[in-house]
Amino acid sequence: HSLPIKRALLSVSDKTNIIPLAKALHDADVELISTGGTARTIREADIPVTDVSDITGFEECLDGRVKTLHPLIHGALLGRTSHQADVDEMKRLSIAPIELVVVNLYPFQEATADPNCTPAIATENIDIGGPTMIRASAKNFAHVCTLTAPEQYQEFIDEFKNEGKITFEKRRQWAKEAFNHTAHYDAHIANYFNELTAEEDDQPEQLNISLPKSQGLRYGENPHQKAAVYGYQDEFIDCFHGKQLSYNNFLDVDGALRLIADFQQADPTCAIFKHTVPCGIATDKNLHKAWDKAFQTDTKSPFGGIVVVNRELDLATAESIDEIFTEIIIAPSYSDDALDLLKQKKNRRLILHKKQLSSKAEKQFRSIFGGALSQDADFEVTTEDDLKVVTQREPTEKEIQDMLFAWQVVKHVKSNAIVYAKDQQTIGIGTGQTSRVEASQIAIAKAEEEGLALDGTAIASDAFFPFPDGVEAAAEAGATAVIQPGGSIRDEQVIEAANKLDLTMVFTGKRLFRH
Ligand code: 5GP
Repeated sequence: HSLPIKRALLSVSDKTNIIPLAKALHDADVELISTGGTARTIREADIPVTDVSDITGFEECLDGRVKTLHPLIHGALLGRTSHQADVDEMKRLSIAPIELVVVNLYPFQEATADPNCTPAIATENIDIGGPTMIRASAKNFAHVCTLTAPEQYQEFIDEFKNEGKITFEKRRQWAKEAFNHTAHYDAHIANYFNELTAEEDDQPEQLNISLPKSQGLRYGENPHQKAAVYGYQDEFIDCFHGKQLSYNNFLDVDGALRLIADFQQADPTCAIFKHTVPCGIATDKNLHKAWDKAFQTDTKSPFGGIVVVNRELDLATAESIDEIFTEIIIAPSYSDDALDLLKQKKNRRLILHKKQLSSKAEKQFRSIFGGALSQDADFEVTTEDDLKVVTQREPTEKEIQDMLFAWQVVKHVKSNAIVYAKDQQTIGIGTGQTSRVEASQIAIAKAEEEGLALDGTAIASDAFFPFPDGVEAAAEAGATAVIQPGGSIRDEQVIEAANKLDLTMVFTGKRLFRH
């Protein structure tokens, strides 16, 4: 089933490495056929090549829109040269078979990534003849070999050296890559049009997710689950030291990057994560203090956790983190001495945070039975202007800052979520409970266990308090300020209770569920 190559059609937008390939083919007496720009490139290297127009007897026309779309080309790609009927018909129609197709497509993705790209430019970058040739020859992989990426050329040349033939297995492998290539290409075009015609707040008409595998993973959430990660994580992070990131690590890193995106503008901030949930966060004038305060919130959970910071990681902070077994550290940069210290632990993963997650347009997807959910990612940071005071007592400036801090943290805690905070430090975090009151009780119990005073704290709740009991319990614990969305039918009762207890309370008008 090895296929001898006698004629090859080369038509590539990306001309990388096309010359060595053309040379290897020519040296083995393969006839080369090519389109305008590709033919010119090959000729310039003194390699003889036949123009497609000489084969078809039809000039390339309409500004290159029609080059290879011709029965003498597509017949050559689709004919089953092992079927006598096809062979006879090809002979009758003077169609000479082509055994190798080398095509890569107009750079649609690159063209549309340019902010100056207009719909007209985008449209001209939709390749028609290329995908047609790729699909035709890949469909006919039993009789034709298809290459769609310069990275494949060397492997082809190595294989081709073996008597000028290509095995069935290789042809099938490259056909698979060819179909993935055109699927990916068409997904980009479809998404471009979906976005072009979508209203500002629309979700996509159809989900065309085509993401390359970025790495295989040893296993998934648990060792008996196979797993992989897809997409472009390398744009955002570089895990430059330690073991490969695991499935659970990627989830944790995602949570950490989303949280730290909200603290981009803040003073030095340190957050400690466990199982995608923050267990301590603090902001201070310097990073070391921020770490100390974050760690004080919960001195047990950080074991095996993730630390993320929004400033260069300095030696003093690194030394403190180093005392705790930490799986992953994420920082925008590292001082040299901090790096020297941290690299001493071989397995600990060190991540360089290269790019912030902050695209307003980002959609978040989650797989569910029968498909997926889509929603806009939430990168909004609540400011003082968004707050509506609903109690008699106005908050002090310090209370406002504590409430905003607690609110920004509670956004990243699993629902039902309660966060107590003071002086830009989390005092107690209650996460993932089925009742709001229990979330609050857990936050209080943890603060007490750590010996942290709840007096004068601000409490943030990710959704409204449905009854007065929530704020009553908070006041009893020591909170003086409450930040919550509001919107319960019993808001009046809740406000009345807050007034009685001399609390100050603000409504954000925004809910922050995280399921
Ligand atoms: P060249 O630089 O050789 O002039 O053009 C190469 C590009 O043209 C390749 O990306 C290939 O996919 C594309 N191409 C080949 N044939 C056709 C065709 O008939 N119509 C269009 N629109 N593109 C083609």
